[in-house]
Amino acid sequence: MRNLFLTLCLLAVATTLVAAQQYDLVLEGGRVMDPETALDAVRNVGIRDGKIARISAAPLSGRRIIHAAGLVVAPGFIDLHQHGQDLSSQRVKAFDGVTTALEMEIGAPDVTQFLNAKQGHSLIHYGTTASHVAARALVFGAALPDGTILPKSGPATDQPATPEQIGRIQQRLRSELDAGGLGVGMGIQYTPGATRLEVIDVFRVAAERKLPVYTHMRSAGRVEPGSAIESVEEVIGAAAITGAPLHIVHINSTCLRDSLECISLVEGARARGLDVTTEAYPYIAGMTAINSALFNPGWREKLGIDYSNLVLPDTGEHLTKERFDELHNASKQQWVLVFANTQETVDAIIPNPLIMIASDGAEGHPRNAGTYSRVLAQYVREKKTLTLMEALRKMTLMPAQMLERSTPAARRMGRLQEGADADVVIFDPQTITDRSTFEKPMEPSVGVHYLLVGGTALIDEGKLVPAVFPGRALTGPGKPTTGKVH
Ligand SMILES: [Zn+2]
Repeated sequence: MRNLFLTLCLLAVATTLVAAQQYDLVLEGGRVMDPETALDAVRNVGIRDGKIARISAAPLSGRRIIHAAGLVVAPGFIDLHQHGQDLSSQRVKAFDGVTTALEMEIGAPDVTQFLNAKQGHSLIHYGTTASHVAARALVFGAALPDGTILPKSGPATDQPATPEQIGRIQQRLRSELDAGGLGVGMGIQYTPGATRLEVIDVFRVAAERKLPVYTHMRSAGRVEPGSAIESVEEVIGAAAITGAPLHIVHINSTCLRDSLECISLVEGARARGLDVTTEAYPYIAGMTAINSALFNPGWREKLGIDYSNLVLPDTGEHLTKERFDELHNASKQQWVLVFANTQETVDAIIPNPLIMIASDGAEGHPRNAGTYSRVLAQYVREKKTLTLMEALRKMTLMPAQMLERSTPAARRMGRLQEGADADVVIFDPQTITDRSTFEKPMEPSVGVHYLLVGGTALIDEGKLVPAVFPGRALTGPGKPTTGKVH
């Protein structure tokens, strides 16, 4: 009897010791929110080996405990549209709650080079589409200069491709998909020489692989022919003809005052069974390369703006015709802010249930650093046109579901559920706020207390952890990534 008692005591001690080490990390007592299951309750979250291993109302023990009382524990935000892939952009994305930021709109010019350069050097998860813009430039003998994703306006952007050239563009895209592209990225407005048939032929390459096309559409504004409505029709038509899933980027900055009409076209296509999605960012200005074909003659009429609506991000200089001509004709690429939208339009679009949040971020525009916090501060807390759960759905589950068309790894993303990747943002819903402005575009947001990327703390007690690079590649079926996180 005495021996049995002793054994039981020893067993209890041993069990306690095992339990004490059960999880690498426990997030204790936070408001756990998951848009897929609608869980919104105080829970403890146990994290082990980069995964969410346990969500429980009962206490959990772990090697480290983070006290999350009063804070929201949500899936890390997934940004489908992030051009700035450098470390300084990644730092501000982290403070904005983003754990995955992908270059999908245009795509990296060389998928292999992009993935190799980032492996082991990325704060957050990354990935890219195969770039039609870059493939076209290559085939026209005008490969993009290093470090750029958009070509200067010229014959390679403005001339139609021959059938032989279209065939070579398709071949290049296939090999970029083989290299791990998550789909095809198109910036049709940057290659106005691309005929309707070329666009359809590019969609056909994506459809062969059952991968989506992400696209910046052909044109903006109301002037016919060439309106935003016509542009939406073009890509919805190409999706219907080919069967490729379609994601229309920044419907706000292409459709401007007609954004709600454009969303209704997406809604109609979806009601007819087409796989069409879209996104927006919460700012009244866009930003692009001033020497690109977007500024070919006619841009003022299309956008309904003038030279003075173009502003240089570094200096705040408003352009004149003379200054515009100089910069548009230069071979050096200069970013320019384009003030073309109204606050009323932006406010009407963001709460729409079809809209995902995506930043279109790059250095020079406050959306790089502030997009996600701004939605939480302005639309959830101040205007109250979105619930917190609806906002989180737009930032996590919807983009994850979009990515599932490209990789099964996305099924473990954008969810705060057992078995999901431990990409987690822990923020204060009362204080989370963007701080970036057009004058100071790189001011980091405030309110994110912790950010976990694959279970590794990247932000800890509100501070960026130095010298950790937990970001992993997200790749398409051409080159599925191995490894335990993705
Ligand atoms: Zn764009």
